[in-house]
Amino acid sequence: MTRSLLPITQFVVKVHSRCDLACDHCYVYEHADTSWRARPKVIGDEVLARAAERIGEHAAAHGLAVVRVVLHGGEPLLAGPERLRRAAEEFRAALPPGCALDLRIHTNGVLLDPAFCDLFDEVRIKVGISLDGDRAANDRHRRFADGRSSHPQVLRAVGLLRRPEYRHLYAGLLCTVDVDNDPVAVHDALAELDPPAVDFLLPHATWEQPPKRPADRGPNPYASWLLAVYDRWEAAGRPFAVRTFDSVHRTLHGLSSLTESLGLEPAALVVLETDGSFEQADSLKTAYDGAPATGLDVFTHSLDEVARHPGIAARQSGLAGLSATCRACPVVRSCGGGLYAHRYRADGGFDNPSVYCGDLMTLINGIADRGEQAPGPGATTHVVPAQAGEPAVPAGLTHPQLDELARGHGGADTVRSLVRSQLALTRAMLAAVRGASGLRTSAAWELLADLDSAAPAALDAVLGHPYARAWAARRLGGDPGAGIGPLAELAAAAAVRAGRGDTVAVPVRAGALHLPTLGRLDVAARTGEVLVTGAREGFTVRTADGEAVTVAAEGRTDPRWQPVRRIRLAEGWTVALEDTDPQRDSHQWPVEDRLGDAELQAWAGALREAAELLDRDLPGYAQGLRVGLSTVTPLRPGPPGRDVSAAARQAFGAVGIARPATAPTLALLLAHEFQHVKLGAVLDLVDLYDPADTALYHAPWRPDPRPLEGLLQGTYAHLAVTAFWGTRVRRYDGLPGEAADHARAQFALWRGYTAEAVERLAGSGSLTALGARFADGMRAGVRPWLEVPLPGAAEESARRARRARQSTAGAG
Ligand code: SF4
Repeated sequence: MTRSLLPITQFVVKVHSRCDLACDHCYVYEHADTSWRARPKVIGDEVLARAAERIGEHAAAHGLAVVRVVLHGGEPLLAGPERLRRAAEEFRAALPPGCALDLRIHTNGVLLDPAFCDLFDEVRIKVGISLDGDRAANDRHRRFADGRSSHPQVLRAVGLLRRPEYRHLYAGLLCTVDVDNDPVAVHDALAELDPPAVDFLLPHATWEQPPKRPADRGPNPYASWLLAVYDRWEAAGRPFAVRTFDSVHRTLHGLSSLTESLGLEPAALVVLETDGSFEQADSLKTAYDGAPATGLDVFTHSLDEVARHPGIAARQSGLAGLSATCRACPVVRSCGGGLYAHRYRADGGFDNPSVYCGDLMTLINGIADRGEQAPGPGATTHVVPAQAGEPAVPAGLTHPQLDELARGHGGADTVRSLVRSQLALTRAMLAAVRGASGLRTSAAWELLADLDSAAPAALDAVLGHPYARAWAARRLGGDPGAGIGPLAELAAAAAVRAGRGDTVAVPVRAGALHLPTLGRLDVAARTGEVLVTGAREGFTVRTADGEAVTVAAEGRTDPRWQPVRRIRLAEGWTVALEDTDPQRDSHQWPVEDRLGDAELQAWAGALREAAELLDRDLPGYAQGLRVGLSTVTPLRPGPPGRDVSAAARQAFGAVGIARPATAPTLALLLAHEFQHVKLGAVLDLVDLYDPADTALYHAPWRPDPRPLEGLLQGTYAHLAVTAFWGTRVRRYDGLPGEAADHARAQFALWRGYTAEAVERLAGSGSLTALGARFADGMRAGVRPWLEVPLPGAAEESARRARRARQSTAGAG
């Protein structure tokens, strides 16, 4: 198995090299490269068979989970239905077990008819259609050779894809930007067609042939145009996915880009021409005649050889492959120097910023200014260079963020970094589940892969659910009760959120359909499958016996549907009160059943009060809770006098709590458990101690010794407990009374315990360099509390409590 090579995962296959339109902005026929003239019009059987074989071999050698093949042209529909069927069958049959095929066709739509749609339904090909906006915009370039408009034919094609029976084939629209078009009219015309996704493509240009820049549109007209679309799209509630905008959002938050025209991800794409030659990205046709050529072909060269071609390798080297100007640019992680072809200049090749440099910078900063976090020096998720003598921090956190967490806190940006890294981990674990489960073909997986590019926000919302990872961990751990059904549940939940009409078969478990993050539907059957079809206005569930249940997004809905209830705690702060997902039983304590109305109201009131207290008294902790606490799972009550709460190491973002008697106690439990959530995520990124240390350590608050991680977790949680009681003491400010005395005694007890535990950790001899630094941070976190004066009675009460605790087993 080859490991040193970045595999190719996207294949653009030219199935027909001519077109029935004569668009004057087409990069295939209207730019510098003229190689199309010498090629066969239609891809041959032998080329298809060899290409499929090569892709299959490559996927097997590199263990690829998904391969995307885009049938392209010219106009691919000119290849005819039989050729397209053959292509789909060849590619699908050649892939190894465990590798899904994401098969698409990009067409101008002119020839699309129901027969093609039936074929695409049968062989599972998604359809993307090129359309530049309203009729005026589209007619500016997209015409037949005799000058006729193609707009009516394209609308008819989109109309076909919007029919219920074909809606699941509708991948989206591809719109080439022309700054002479009205951006709002273009947005609205496209939105009217209810696409699941729109790609806005900058017209191909180089420093030799710069794009048009009308004098009256300012210095960066493409940024102005795209930002006008962005504003309209935002105001409309982001009605469809836009890869350009979603990529900027994602890269501003340290996630990967969704398009090769932005970001630093390696370009993993190759083009197969109708004669079997491999070429680099089509966009290079705009640079110079022969620019995309590799000299390699499907008959004599493997895809590993193609991946090693200097032109392809040059686009896989991230930051190092960019010009010096780009490497020093503050938005380089979002921009990535733009599309490779757009950097071309005759006297410097591709070692330049993009010809759209000013537009890209203005666009990224414009989106950042509109509420997304701008990429600053510490906002990267890549390895952060250490100062001289500093231990390196692995990917995901900066040194200042780690230090901030060590002191007990973790502001919004820092916890957002943990959220991102956990999301990436969940994705990796799901891919591992699929690989380990040996699924030859999985419609659920293919749908997840498709939504990853078409509706990333919908997918992230589901994969960010704490219990998605909890299930994946059980499955990977060999838990015999962790079936593969939850993969379909996750796919269905993401598809419902995307609302684009996909239908997913989901197994019924224990008499219910479970849609993580959304809720549970009781169905009559105990086993079997149901079909879930999502739409904007809700979703429909069809059972095996033909019953259809519709769940509306708003208004009255079927009483068997039990939605996840979301509680608004404060302005900009909402959590899910999770009482439907069977995976929630992850907290080593029995979970509550579905809450009745009265209990729901009691929870909502207590949570709001607790949130108010946290915001007011513990803002350093509340900021992180607001970003990272997504889910509160009600647990069954503990024995009288004992509050029960627990985080789960594999369920980032969730805390399990049995509703305590008072809101302040709930605030304390939330703060305490969220410390475990944060530290668990830190430990996923950073080694703080030597895992080979099997010694047991005494935590001062319990009589039984614990492993080092247990001591670390308890100490970190008690930083928040100390801060909670410290702020209660400040509130009482010397006032007499039982509650005030209790707060002072608790404060005395927990600050002492925490300070002692920090020293025990620091003296363990098993901390890594970063662990020692983390312990220093915890020490700094507790130190100010040790200086708060307390009456002798409080200290004496703490001593008594301590003696009592040491004689009985307690919670850590
Ligand atoms: S904005 Fe310009 S300088 Fe910055 S990365 Fe993009 S192309 Fe390079």
